[in-house]
Amino acid sequence: MKDLQKSRLNLIKDLTLGYIVFTIFLVLSYCLEMLDMEINEFLALLTFIWCGNILYYLVVRTDLNLKLKEPDLFMPMMIWSIFCVIAPTYFMTGPMRSIFVMNYFVVVIFGVFKLNLKQFITLTGFAVSVLGFVIVFYMKKHPNTIHIFNELLLWIVFSVTAISFALVCNNVSNLRQKLKEQKLSLMSAFSDIHKLSITDELTGVYNRRYMMDFMATKKLKVDKGVDEFIACIIDIDFFKKINDTYGHDVGDMVLKTFSNEINKLIRNGDCFARIGGEEFVLIISHINIDTARDVITRIMQRVRNLKFDGYPNLKITISVGMKAYEKGSSIEDLLKDIDVLLYKAKNTGRDKFITD
Ligand code: GH3
Ligand code: MG
Ligand code: MG
Repeated sequence: MKDLQKSRLNLIKDLTLGYIVFTIFLVLSYCLEMLDMEINEFLALLTFIWCGNILYYLVVRTDLNLKLKEPDLFMPMMIWSIFCVIAPTYFMTGPMRSIFVMNYFVVVIFGVFKLNLKQFITLTGFAVSVLGFVIVFYMKKHPNTIHIFNELLLWIVFSVTAISFALVCNNVSNLRQKLKEQKLSLMSAFSDIHKLSITDELTGVYNRRYMMDFMATKKLKVDKGVDEFIACIIDIDFFKKINDTYGHDVGDMVLKTFSNEINKLIRNGDCFARIGGEEFVLIISHINIDTARDVITRIMQRVRNLKFDGYPNLKITISVGMKAYEKGSSIEDLLKDIDVLLYKAKNTGRDKFITD
């Protein structure tokens, strides 16, 4: 919400720049006696024009706009600006009137990234009507000097140009919208692909690729002395037997339930990944080996107590090899070492962990 308000205030800044240029334009016209009005009338006109911008700024600054259905207030501001650039032509004389009306297109440019066709048509209709009224009142004001043909020509040329301009602006707006949607769908596809590339398909936990990247990042930190971590290799005991007894599907379900459970137990900043059939790696950060022993003991107990839907007698245990990463050593060596420790756990009865 804050970002939106910020971008609204930025838009007001741009609009204010437009208002300043427009005011200079008006002052010049007045000094060159192209505006048929007294000084007090001229100052009233300038005040009137600036009131809209100041009011818009105050409403956004005080967040009052957030209480409205359309907090952008873009259409009211456009309508106000269009009125301000067309209505003063009533006081203008000579060829300057036609040039002055062209300011309308500068205003509409602001809408090119925000408005839809209906809004462009509304603005065009409004501008054409205001100019129509101005011409009618102008004809009444100068009945003897008016060139009806010139006035009509001005109105027709303005209307045709304004309609064409609205259509072009709408096309640009559509194009921009399409680009925005394409960008969003590309970003979402990229994020899906990235997620797929680091996730194990069956269990939904991280895969070996992610685990290796994770460890490489950790290693850099430990080598700099700003972190420490412990790597554990976890292997489900006698998993082949589960497949043989209950079938492959039940084996898959066991892998999923097990992964889910471990994922629930670990902290943010740790990493749990499936690196093979029933083999997993757990990286525990910011921890010493004694605390890691407690963590693994707790995890092993949870695994022993795991229940599997529809198979009340199915129980599993795990064997674990674990070791702290030593500053300056390599990831490959660490993986080899924990594999040896796991092998020891398997050979000495399973359902246990062995540390360095
Ligand atoms: P140990 O206690 O020595 O680890 O014995 P184990 O039976 O767990 O180990 P072993 O390596 O002999 O068997 C692992 C089995 O895991 C063999 C393989 O069919 C099974 N497996 C590997 N990937 C999957 C999988 O994605 N789904 C299922 N259901 N089984 C799998
Ligand atoms: Mg096994
Ligand atoms: Mg294995």
